[in-house]
Amino acid sequence: MIIDAHTHVHPDADGLGDRYDARLENLLANLAASEVDKAVIYAEAVDVPYIKRIENDYVGACCAQHPDTLIGFASVHPLEPDPVKTFEEAVRRYGLKGLKLHPRFQGVAADDPRVAPLARKAAELDLPVAIDALLWKPTPLKLQLPINVDGLCKQVPEARIIMAHAGGFHFLDTLAVAIANPNVHLEISVALTFFHGTPFEDQFMFALKQLGPKRLIYGSDFPQKPMQASLDESRAILKKHGFSDADLEWILGKTFLSLLPGENA
Ligand SMILES: [Zn+2]
Repeated sequence: MIIDAHTHVHPDADGLGDRYDARLENLLANLAASEVDKAVIYAEAVDVPYIKRIENDYVGACCAQHPDTLIGFASVHPLEPDPVKTFEEAVRRYGLKGLKLHPRFQGVAADDPRVAPLARKAAELDLPVAIDALLWKPTPLKLQLPINVDGLCKQVPEARIIMAHAGGFHFLDTLAVAIANPNVHLEISVALTFFHGTPFEDQFMFALKQLGPKRLIYGSDFPQKPMQASLDESRAILKKHGFSDADLEWILGKTFLSLLPGENA
């Protein structure tokens, strides 16, 4: 079972910027043409120049049409009125399997006390929380720092956290957060291929190896590249650095499945 734990679809073809085809049909065609069995798609309660908001009901409808291949995560903005209620309703109404938080686009740090009730609700519902941790534009970088996730974990130690993009330029901070908090897992999209072939490749891989395959989750950030091409590239980098076929089974699916309720890894 191969799971791509970080993909995006949008009802508008240019919903993720005019360089990408964001349509569901494109994702489904890529899934059919690849070894990937399931894709995680995220709602995004955000308001930024490069991507349009992705609603929970849209993600829910996609998953309802393709229950064997799509796994949906809900999104709410932590500063909207009653976000915990909105999140719980999205989970119950659409069968969504997790919560996506986006400090970089939402402009709310992971350790903001207004985020903790959302993580607490996710834990109560037995669902993981994916938190963007890339460090990029457009909000203040201080709000995006991976170390902020440690603050959230200290407030809600029972939360199961996925740090998307493994911390980007701050991958060593992300390693420290994951060492300090056993419920933190790293999703490696963008960062793995970004550092490949740079002076930081070995250092990034050092961080991944410190944690081991049961703390690592494969994702591609599709539609940035064709789905199979991302898988081939990522698998080659991981193998080059000594991850075994058994390790890859965890990274490419079992680790993510172990975070879902009622799934057997
Ligand atoms: Zn993404």
